[in-house]
Amino acid sequence: MATAATLRGVDLQADGERGARLTLRLSAPVAQKVFTLENPHRLVIDLPGTQMDRAARLPAAAGPVTGLRSGTQPKNTLRLVLQLREALPSQVRQAAGGAQLVVEVGNVMVAAASPAAPAVPVAVQPRHAPEDSGRDVIVAIDAGHGGQDPGATGKSGTREKDVVLAIAQALKKRVDAEPGMRAVLTRNDDRFIALRDRIGVARAARADIFISVHADAIGNRDVSGSSVYVLSERGASSEQARWLAERENAADLKGGVSLGDKGGQLASVLMDLSQSASIGSSMEAAERVLASLDQVGTVRKSQVQQAAFVVLKSPDIPSMLVETAYISNPGEERKLRSPAYQAELADAIFRGVREHFRRSPPDGSLFARQQRSRGGAPVIAGSTGP
Ligand SMILES: [Zn+2]
Repeated sequence: MATAATLRGVDLQADGERGARLTLRLSAPVAQKVFTLENPHRLVIDLPGTQMDRAARLPAAAGPVTGLRSGTQPKNTLRLVLQLREALPSQVRQAAGGAQLVVEVGNVMVAAASPAAPAVPVAVQPRHAPEDSGRDVIVAIDAGHGGQDPGATGKSGTREKDVVLAIAQALKKRVDAEPGMRAVLTRNDDRFIALRDRIGVARAARADIFISVHADAIGNRDVSGSSVYVLSERGASSEQARWLAERENAADLKGGVSLGDKGGQLASVLMDLSQSASIGSSMEAAERVLASLDQVGTVRKSQVQQAAFVVLKSPDIPSMLVETAYISNPGEERKLRSPAYQAELADAIFRGVREHFRRSPPDGSLFARQQRSRGGAPVIAGSTGP
């Protein structure tokens, strides 16, 4: 991987002997890997495609961190190693739109230097070095609406923003329980997030797929069932113009392709390729999810629909919007309130997404390794069971 980001600075803030907060200031969001090693206790932070600024210095040891060092791994991966006094739980989150990585070790009570909104907390699981296993595929889950935007409201007062958050959280739990998959939520509570910031969370997490969860209303209360949407070509071309206009400021596309240094025509071709590939993958994944939802209940439209929803407009992340059910239909409103039905919907979306990644695994992922070890044979249809 080419170098895509620079580590500009590292701060370590200790909170007595119990905890410490490490803040990494980056020039661009990085798909970090954080894991622990034992004997001695270490926390390892891998930053692919990252180089350390020549002026940047590692801070002195403090609190439970007894030493810091950095090194370079294959594929331009910058590795930071924190030596720890004891085994401590840790948490990683992204702040400042992904340009800051905040790693908290142990119990940190001191306030963060800068607020992290919207934060992307990711619990760190002890694991083997990533070279052994293949990376996780990252699923960005977007609970629609939130805060001052309640979304649709059912006849009995059920609010869309509440039920879709419950479904999103159930889906995250299901994804995180699956080896080789990890989820990030655009919101984990009742807060308002602008549509483009939702895409921003997915980009900062280097998501492999983006799923926006809704339960909208329609005038006709008899209408029920799920629908799945991907971006339309028309929506894509208007978005392309916008991205190109902003390309001087835009972060690089996911494959490490930079648009900033390309001439207008080449940038346009690259955008076009990225977006068409993205719509193609979105369509494949959406078809799997729709088929899976069909096993749970009624599907309103048996074909994946195409529309120009803003949240679907990442040029480089396959994206879909799932209308799980109609909150305007009294029967579906009742079901949407039930945690059992919420879990059933989440499970159906999960099985569709997993099937998609089994068939089309991203490079370097655990799924890709598993597919290779099966001899590259496609997964047999119908193997969608848990
Ligand atoms: Zn909605």
